[in-house]
Amino acid sequence: MPVYEAVSRNGGKVENFDPDVLFKVITEQAQQGVDFMTLHAGLLRRHLPLAHRRLAGIVSRGGAIMAHWMSAHNRENPLYARWDEVLEICRRHDVTVSLGDALRPGCIADASDAAQFAELSALGRLVRRCREAGVQVMVEGPGHIPFNQIKDNMQRAHRVCAGAPFYVLGPVVTDVAPGYDHITACIGATAAAAAGAALLCYVTPAEHLGLPNIAEVTEGIMAFRIAAHAADLAKGLPGARDWDDAMTRARVSFDWPGQFKLALNPDLARRRFRSKSRLRKATKADHCSMCGEGFCAMRVNSKIRKDLASRGNQA
Ligand code: SF4
Repeated sequence: MPVYEAVSRNGGKVENFDPDVLFKVITEQAQQGVDFMTLHAGLLRRHLPLAHRRLAGIVSRGGAIMAHWMSAHNRENPLYARWDEVLEICRRHDVTVSLGDALRPGCIADASDAAQFAELSALGRLVRRCREAGVQVMVEGPGHIPFNQIKDNMQRAHRVCAGAPFYVLGPVVTDVAPGYDHITACIGATAAAAAGAALLCYVTPAEHLGLPNIAEVTEGIMAFRIAAHAADLAKGLPGARDWDDAMTRARVSFDWPGQFKLALNPDLARRRFRSKSRLRKATKADHCSMCGEGFCAMRVNSKIRKDLASRGNQA
């Protein structure tokens, strides 16, 4: 995000970056070959009072920096005011614009509010100008959204931004689970992807608490791989269910190594299985420790199947 570099070149004071330095950074990064840039160009001066009526205000880092500069200098967002210059740089160096959503809701109370949708309208206008200039564009989305508002949000974004690829940050569906926000976000991401989101930006268990470590990054990525696959299944994407069907076949035939191989995280599945099993040759067993040998429904099923087969599949 070029605005960070512009701020650091101006001594780290967020309200004091020089717009000319920001444009210099954009040019430099474009020349260096970056593929896309996140630019918070849709945040306008008239949006600031709307944002400050919110419970959580502005939670986007780039958006907060830009808003601070705009309020301190009482000037329009330089990226918006000089958008043609941005487009000329991006077109010349084949950089895709990623339109940041500075006013994404940062809590459930702020979801789908006037500030969010005012910025979305501005983003829709910028998408059209990108296309007229021959610059590829995608749009960043929320944020924190209650589950029942996700589908409407996706449809609105699709309509306002003329079908530009929309990518979501979560969305987190409740504010009350710090430490589990990879799960709150995974729920929202599944709904968003099933409703047409083009890209999911993962969330880790450290969200709202601190910088994630490697294990937390892994948990976040796994949660979002699940969300993406669940949405592919919901949309009926060709081939998506093959993976699930293969797992089910391995499961009903007690092919434990096959199940581990097919698992999203084979090591985790294998370790959990081993930690629960008292049997020395557990991977050959026709049951697991959950229901036990006598009550294993899968085992009973295989007996029913054999009985039926022996009677020519007649009840
Ligand atoms: S014991 Fe229960 S959980 Fe384990 S394989 Fe059989 S049915 Fe499934």
